[in-house]
Amino acid sequence: MDDEIPYVDAHLHLHEFKEEEIERFLSSRVLLIAVAEDYNSSIRTLEIRDSHPEGIKACVGIHPWNIKDEEALRREIEAIEELIPEADCIGEVGLDLKFTADTYPLQEKAFQAFLEFSRRYEKPLNIHSAGAWRETLQLLRAWSVKRAIFHWYTGPLDLLREIISSGLLVSINASLKVQRKARQVVLATPLQSMLTESDGPYNYRGLNLNPLLIPELVAEIAGLKNVTEGQLRRVIFENFKALWERKV
Ligand SMILES: [Zn+2]
Repeated sequence: MDDEIPYVDAHLHLHEFKEEEIERFLSSRVLLIAVAEDYNSSIRTLEIRDSHPEGIKACVGIHPWNIKDEEALRREIEAIEELIPEADCIGEVGLDLKFTADTYPLQEKAFQAFLEFSRRYEKPLNIHSAGAWRETLQLLRAWSVKRAIFHWYTGPLDLLREIISSGLLVSINASLKVQRKARQVVLATPLQSMLTESDGPYNYRGLNLNPLLIPELVAEIAGLKNVTEGQLRRVIFENFKALWERKV
């Protein structure tokens, strides 16, 4: 039955939640793709996944906001590479020209390294692309990446079409009800290219983002796309599974 299909939170920072919260998310039947931001949170994310392997996929990586010093970055990338074989995915990685444009050259260096790891270890990518949507897509194409999630996409709609035609996934954030731009993204994204996410824990315009908002998000998207909630849950669950079934 469609009612039994799990929800999906395709991008959240699970290491910042308490154990009892994590258990509550899992008992609410939300599958979680947990991203990391640096070496320590990568280790922690893998530990959390190992204690709940049935409901959690663990990504390891360095968030572009955490990139500052070239030598420290080189060492951290090396250390994270050792974790990749046991990880399910690589993230949160990518480029940011909106909040941290000053470190862009180093961000690009790191992203190139993670793109290479994605290919070598056959792991999907969980991507941050704020203000650098075109640059991010160009690099994904240069590396022929086929399995990647554009998390909380708010970029231009013409570029969205290119992302979709490249076979990549776009995840819609639970802030949909307070972010007008996100409605246009939902309308322009076919269900077969869509995931849902919270990016929790994060406070966006008074909304406390966490995976328990996903059922309400699914209801909103279903309304906008004129499908039943059950149909939408099924497609999103299939999109989630395909990330690990298809090869890079
Ligand atoms: Zn995030």
